[in-house]
Amino acid sequence: MTAPHDEMACQTCLSPLNTLGMPPTYIHPTHLATDGHEPTPVPVSQLDTVRRSCDFCGDPYPIWTLHGGEVTAIAIGPTAGLVQDFGHSWAACATCQTHIDDGRNDKVIDRAIRALGLTNHPQTRQRIEELHRAFLNARLPGRTLITTTAWPATTITAAELPKVRDRLTRFYRSPDNLPPTLGIIDLRDQIAAGLERSHLYWIDNDFTDLAEHAAAQLPDVRIDRDLIPSADGMLIWPRPVTPRQLTAASWTDTTDGRHVVLYRTIGAGLDGKPLQRLREQVGWLAPMSAAHLPDQHLIPGDHPAAALIATWLLIAQQTAEVTTARVDKAVAKTYARTNRPLPELRIVRIRGRRTTPGPDGKPTPGSQERSQTSRFWVSGHWRNQAHGPGRSLRRPVYIHPFLRGPDDAPIKLSTTVRMLSSHQAKPQDCK
Ligand SMILES: [Zn+2]
Ligand SMILES: [Zn+2]
Repeated sequence: MTAPHDEMACQTCLSPLNTLGMPPTYIHPTHLATDGHEPTPVPVSQLDTVRRSCDFCGDPYPIWTLHGGEVTAIAIGPTAGLVQDFGHSWAACATCQTHIDDGRNDKVIDRAIRALGLTNHPQTRQRIEELHRAFLNARLPGRTLITTTAWPATTITAAELPKVRDRLTRFYRSPDNLPPTLGIIDLRDQIAAGLERSHLYWIDNDFTDLAEHAAAQLPDVRIDRDLIPSADGMLIWPRPVTPRQLTAASWTDTTDGRHVVLYRTIGAGLDGKPLQRLREQVGWLAPMSAAHLPDQHLIPGDHPAAALIATWLLIAQQTAEVTTARVDKAVAKTYARTNRPLPELRIVRIRGRRTTPGPDGKPTPGSQERSQTSRFWVSGHWRNQAHGPGRSLRRPVYIHPFLRGPDDAPIKLSTTVRMLSSHQAKPQDCK
């Protein structure tokens, strides 16, 4: 059961819902153009993604929740006459937050007028200003990061990874709040310390395709220490993966397992000062969900961290070729200045398709399939394989995930797409 005043959103369109009357009926906000579906209320705390907009200007990518005066007002504009409860928590976009921090509330009003399509009439400005002031004059210190906004993807390159990690570490140590629903408020220092010890993994495009496909069929799996490429780590997929649209993950060693945090990228589409401040104060990533993965516990195959677990398994079973990359000069200089050891940056690729080794262990020329002019994915499947002392343990191993065709041939995209969209049932031999 949820408390009656828990915020609700529609599971169909992910919009926060307004309430009407007592006991409350949940309705779509009046300004929202829906396809006419009935709202399906679920507590906001159950959703990874919520379609909020900035309460100051209507921008679709709010980033901060501000806490202030309880505002109830007669809304103006197209919904004239409607009594609306604006509440004491407002969502702010990065641009409005920058203007508010700079004491330029007039610029926030400009944005609101543009967004509402109102004429820039002194009376209109005055009404909006009253509304904003009622909230801001009673504003409480602090702000909370909105982690549920579905930002367009930002591509993070391998070279950027050390900087991305450092900003995230700094954010965990900053006074800005995280939503309590993530369940990591008490773990922020621990996660920050883990990030500092992290090995950094950047997964290349092909390996990401492979991991995503493997994650969709992941069987239940027991995680143990030797499965994981490093005690503390962080990895980046170059594009959002799985229906959850994850872009990064971090893991922090604990006495009985590890804390895992899954991230999305933020800030795409911003520029100038709002972007600069967001990068300085938060960075590139926002946590979407977190979990503790204890050693030797059976983790369900549809766990939110399935993409991370599949990536770990694929690295552990030697599907990966992990190479250490040189960090770029600017990063190296920054680290040297602060007496920090150079970050360990690793690039994860699919192990090259080897030709059949000859007697001397070297590849035999001509043993490779030469008839193909392009490479295509061969869809794999998980099979439980014995490992450990006396081969008493079982671990899923992904079989035949390789690209077929010459190593230097281009990858046939159509084949990849077909494979990625196929949702096969879990194989029978995975118990
Ligand atoms: Zn809806
Ligand atoms: Zn705004």
